[in-house]
Amino acid sequence: MNAHQHPDPVGHPSADDRRSFVIVGGGQTGAVAAIALRDEGFAGRIILVGEEPHLPYERPPLSKDVLIQPERAKVTIHDAGVYADRAIETRLGRRAAAIDRGARILTLDDGEAIAYDRLLIATGARPRPYPLLDALGAGVFTMRTLGDAEALRAAIGPGKRLLVVGGGVIGLEVAASATVLGASVTVIERGDRLMARAAPQPLADVLMALHRARGVTFAFGAALARAEREAGGGFVLTCEDGRSFEGDVIVYGIGVALNTELAAAAGLAVDNGIVTDEYGRTSDPAIFAAGDVAHQWRPVLGRHVRQETWQNARVQGAAVAAAMVRDVPCADELPWYWTDQYESNFQVAGSPEAADWIRRGDDAAARYTLFGVTDGRIVGAVTVDNGREMRPAKDLIASGRVIADLDALRDPKQDLRKLAAALR
Ligand code: FAD
Ligand code: NDP
Repeated sequence: MNAHQHPDPVGHPSADDRRSFVIVGGGQTGAVAAIALRDEGFAGRIILVGEEPHLPYERPPLSKDVLIQPERAKVTIHDAGVYADRAIETRLGRRAAAIDRGARILTLDDGEAIAYDRLLIATGARPRPYPLLDALGAGVFTMRTLGDAEALRAAIGPGKRLLVVGGGVIGLEVAASATVLGASVTVIERGDRLMARAAPQPLADVLMALHRARGVTFAFGAALARAEREAGGGFVLTCEDGRSFEGDVIVYGIGVALNTELAAAAGLAVDNGIVTDEYGRTSDPAIFAAGDVAHQWRPVLGRHVRQETWQNARVQGAAVAAAMVRDVPCADELPWYWTDQYESNFQVAGSPEAADWIRRGDDAAARYTLFGVTDGRIVGAVTVDNGREMRPAKDLIASGRVIADLDALRDPKQDLRKLAAALR
């Protein structure tokens, strides 16, 4: 059997292959990579180490269905049998504490030493801490884990006053879910607009109008100076300019801190994430990194890219697993993410930093697509309840061609698939 062949239909390892590939991080990236290693034909031991006690689960439902309709939320990525069938060993509720690169040994927090031939670090990220708010104790929440979502769900409901600090994607998704649950919500944003990191201004405007129509209030340019607990148990947040806000519950989402400590302590190159080449290889060729935590070299772009999206976790997790097995570089993937708020679905592809945004569909249309145009090329796209146009929109971005007839794009009667196909 050569290395490219699957060992057998359910992917059992072979006694002939004595190598061990170890994955640190039982999130989306780690789970996808573990399965992909087997699917790629790796026949040695696979060990998946995850600090959380659960089998790997999806995070997108945490701020949405897990809050609003937990009975319908499905978060587990694969049942235990899927790992067992592929002879993937799991070490859950166990933290990787140290890497001895010389000896190629990973040590867990309980002292177990695991020898590896290749190691994948997929340790993701955690909420960037806000000590001013953390000091308030109970009633202050972040949103990263299943435990976070369950704790918040127990704290919000009709009549509760929720203060959301940070007008990013976490802040807005939690604001929408809490509003649906009957809470009254105020979003406190230090900057002058919503979702500045990942969404173009026209989408930020749409989201703000949507939230305002549902009763959410916003404060911009609101840098917090003080955070206090009132005698009755509520909170008061006071801004540097004197504005103050009262609430019963606080959620903050002010970005992430990357879980790079393990890699940094082992002497791997870290710069806005664990630095890798286009194979996902770190500065140690036996160690790879993928997912939120990886800052991967993209030869086509000529720079490193780090993404914090579900798609990236899946695609890069699988691609780096393939690279670990058969030394193939990761393909370029167009950035894409979605956010669901209230009943609406928003999808964003490509760059949010286009010079101009044009709208396909008239102003009254409930479903439409926005195209970001720079120098006549489509560099980004946003669909508003119009996901069926995302595939051709991605094709338009990928073509990289100058679009001669932007009016055709504006006209929703023109078939976008045909327009995209004509540019291939
Ligand atoms: P993570 O999910 O952070 O997983 C890393 C895992 O590694 C964690 O379980 C962590 O505990 C573990 N770990 C860390 N250090 C160690 C260690 N030393 N030893 C052992 N284990 C360790 N993206 C979208 O595109 N659309 C969405 O709608 C969307 N919604 C989201 C909603 C929420 C609430 C959140 C938090 C994220 C959302 N995302 C969404 C982003 C997406 O979920 C992430 O990009 C993705 O989870 C990243 O996966 P990852 O495996 O790289 O990292
Ligand atoms: P984001 O980076 O998206 O947003 C953080 C926001 O908080 C920014 O608007 C930032 O503004 C603001 N901010 C930063 N510091 C402060 C402060 N001191 N006071 C007030 N506002 C502040 O991060 P999130 O926390 O929203 O999301 C965390 C992670 O979760 C990301 O990886 C994200 O991708 C993921 N996620 C993805 C979802 C999706 O794709 N649908 C849904 C939910 C989470 P400024 O620009 O001024 O710093």
